[in-house]
Amino acid sequence: MPTQIIDGKAIAAEIRAEAKVAVAELSKHDIQPCLAVVLVGEDPASKAYVGSKVKACEEIGMKSLKIVHSVDMAEDDLLAQIDELNADASVHGILVQLPLPKHMDEERVTERIDPAKDVDGFHPVNVGKLSIGIDCLTPCTPTGIPEMIVRSGLEMSGKHAVVIGRSNIVGKPMMSLLVQKGHKANCTVTCCHSGTKDLAYHTKQADILIAAIGVPEFVKADMVKEGAIVIDVGINRVEDESAAKGYRLVGDVDYASVEPVASAITPVPGGVGPMTVAMLMGNTVKAAKMINGLPV
Ligand code: NAD
Repeated sequence: MPTQIIDGKAIAAEIRAEAKVAVAELSKHDIQPCLAVVLVGEDPASKAYVGSKVKACEEIGMKSLKIVHSVDMAEDDLLAQIDELNADASVHGILVQLPLPKHMDEERVTERIDPAKDVDGFHPVNVGKLSIGIDCLTPCTPTGIPEMIVRSGLEMSGKHAVVIGRSNIVGKPMMSLLVQKGHKANCTVTCCHSGTKDLAYHTKQADILIAAIGVPEFVKADMVKEGAIVIDVGINRVEDESAAKGYRLVGDVDYASVEPVASAITPVPGGVGPMTVAMLMGNTVKAAKMINGLPV
C-alpha cells in the first residue's frame, strides 16, 4: 500500500471553514469573537506569525486586535496591557507572541492572562485542567495533531504513541492530550527526550511517532516501525543555495528515508505547520462560547 500523505493544508482549511461557520452562528447571539495579539519588538519571524494570525481572523469574519510595542517596553506596562485586555468584555482571546525580549519573564506574563482567554493554552490553570481531563483551552500545535490523524481516517485509540520532545509548548501537552479518554486520544504514551537512553529502541515501538525535537531530519528510517503513523512537528531552516531564499524548510524527520517505511506521514512544509493557526481560530471560537456560557 502506498504511504498516506497527511495533507495538513487541506485539513487546516476544513477547520478554518468550520470556525467561519461557528463565527456566523455566534453573530446570531450578538457575539463577534475577538482575538488580541500582542507583539513586543521587531523579530521578523514573530512579525510574520502575528501577520498570519491576524489574516486568518479576517478570513473567517473574526475580529482581531494587533497590538505592537517597542522592544524596550517595561514588563509592568505589558502586564498592565494584559490586565486591560482581561477586563475588556469584547476580547475573547489573548495571545502574547513568544519569545519575549530577555528583560521580560515569560512565565509571569503568561500567568497574567485570564485562563478563560488563554487561547495558547499555556496558563498553568489550563495546563492543570488538561492534565486531569477537564475541557479547557489547550495548546494549538499539539491539539491539531489528533485532528489530523482522525480526519485522515486513521485510528488512535489503543495505539502506542511515542513523543520525542518534552517542551511545554509541544511535547508535554502532546502527552497529556494523547493519554486522555476519547477517540482522538486513548493512546499508550511514551515520552522520549534528550535524557532518553537508546532512543531508537523506544521509537521503534511506536504505532504513532510524533517528532518535536528541533533538529533537522533527526528521525531516520531505522528508528521507525514498519507501518507507523509519523507526525513531524519540526520546522527547521537549512541552507540551500539552489533555493530562491537561500534556505529550505525541513522537519525533524528525514522524510525521504522514513516515508517508504511509514503507513502515513506529514510533510514539511504542508503538514503540522498550517494546523497551528487553524487551531488558534478554533480556540478563540471556543473561548468566546465558554465565556458566554454557550455549549462548545
Ligand atoms: P524545544 O527546543 O523547546 O524542545 C525540543 C525537545 O527535543 C526537548 O524537550 C529535548 O528534550 C528534545 N530533544 C532534543 N535533542 C534530543 C535528542 N537528541 N534526543 C531526544 N530528544 C531530544 O522545541 P519545541 O518548541 O518543542 O519545538 C520542536 C520543533 O517543533 C522545532 O523544530 C519547532 O520549530 C517546531 N514547532 C513547530 C510548530 C508548528 O506550528 N508546526 C510549533 C511549535 C514548534
